[in-house]
Amino acid sequence: MAELTPERVFARRLYQTSEWRRIRRKKITHQSLCEICLETETVEPATVVHHRVRHNGNRMVFFDYDQLISLCRQHHEEARLAKSL
Ligand SMILES: [Zn+2]
Repeated sequence: MAELTPERVFARRLYQTSEWRRIRRKKITHQSLCEICLETETVEPATVVHHRVRHNGNRMVFFDYDQLISLCRQHHEEARLAKSL
């Protein structure tokens, strides 16, 4: 289990903002399929909007629409594990 640093606590709060809900909805509306599955021509509904880069609670990164990627549950789990290494 990763350590709960002040950055992580702050990052969690960002997910509760209306700004995040708005940008998340925009992303999932624009791309409702998993983008990694699409690379292999697999159609899988996206369940998670994921940050391509580690944001560490940085608002500039967190709310950067271009850094978001729509992922299915499995690919999100893989991306999450890869980032925490
Ligand atoms: Zn996928």
